Amino acid sequence: MATVAAYVLKKRLAGNKRYPLVLMLEPLFRCNLACAGCGKVQYPPHILKKQLTPEECFAAVEECGVPMVSLPGGEPLLHPQIVEIVNGLIARKKYIYLCTNALELKRRLPEFTPSKYLTFSVHLDGQRDHHDFSVCREGGYDIAIEGIKEAVKRGFRVTTNATFFDGTDPNSVRGFFDEVMDMGVEGIVLSPGYSYDKAPDQHHFMGRARVRRLFRAILSNRKPNWKFNMSPLFLEFLMGDRKYECTPWGSPAYNIFGWQRPCYLLQDGYAETFKELLDTTKWEEYGVASGNPKCANCMVSCGYEPSAVIEGFGSLRGFWGMIRGTFSSYRDEHALKLLNEPAPHGPATLVKIAAGAEKPVFEETHA
Ligand code: SF4
Ligand code: SF4
Repeated sequence: MATVAAYVLKKRLAGNKRYPLVLMLEPLFRCNLACAGCGKVQYPPHILKKQLTPEECFAAVEECGVPMVSLPGGEPLLHPQIVEIVNGLIARKKYIYLCTNALELKRRLPEFTPSKYLTFSVHLDGQRDHHDFSVCREGGYDIAIEGIKEAVKRGFRVTTNATFFDGTDPNSVRGFFDEVMDMGVEGIVLSPGYSYDKAPDQHHFMGRARVRRLFRAILSNRKPNWKFNMSPLFLEFLMGDRKYECTPWGSPAYNIFGWQRPCYLLQDGYAETFKELLDTTKWEEYGVASGNPKCANCMVSCGYEPSAVIEGFGSLRGFWGMIRGTFSSYRDEHALKLLNEPAPHGPATLVKIAAGAEKPVFEETHA
């Protein structure tokens, strides 16, 4: 937190208008899962075979100068040189969030060394049934839990990372928070899903009003032991208590194609350098205020959490809001009533992958 605060203050004092906070460094797109809401693993096989070299990863990190690096994908643990990449980033004193579905985590842990710079951010979308449904893999939850427990036992920093879609049961999510806190994770990261056009399940993405309603039900009346590894101001934004515009340059994305415009989610072309990305992207064409339909329903953390972090560390009022948010339980009687309402669409539909198919084939059934 101190590193990020110092970084934001330095940038503000230097008069920088646009600066990145966390690099979304995607070393590869291939994965050992095929989640229905994923916008990454639908690339053709020749793209899925490609990956960034460690040197390309280090060059991207140095070029943009961020204090934090998120390693999503794909599944980073499938990269044959992931240990070299992680160790190189630690040597550069970067705070790394290695995002993993944890199918391989327990087996690979002996290759890594615990460090304050390294956090395993485990993709866990809720309690057992919900997670297995979300990742289209029965047993996925149990394997991920084994990985989390082993990582905590070995002294690694661990967080969980959840994406929620329409039809999510807020009571189940609150039960999930209890479960992961009991496992000894440092904090929970959460975000509403983004409606990727490439994702095979297009039915469960939410509009902004539904996002606010869901997150108000989930995040009000918090239990004292719940910890979130996110800006409290961003959580208030999800609950509908704050308004932010998108800061897409706050979490730039770099992958095998180059610097992705304008953000981790949209692909409106690529720049060869970070400077070119900053200088030549038409930023005014993105975010809700722009009227761009691709941004209309987006409340995703990679676009809006940087806005919250910059406010939190960039003004006394924002800093006070963060402190107050960290220690508040957000008591709210109306939100308690929301927890007793039936799910908006009745029983959820199940998206499953047909076994043995060369490419993922999705079919819907009723749960
Ligand atoms: S684990 Fe992540 S990268 Fe892999 S399919 Fe699921 S969402 Fe996509
Ligand atoms: S609103 Fe969402 S999709 Fe649009 S630029 Fe921002 S993060 Fe990307």
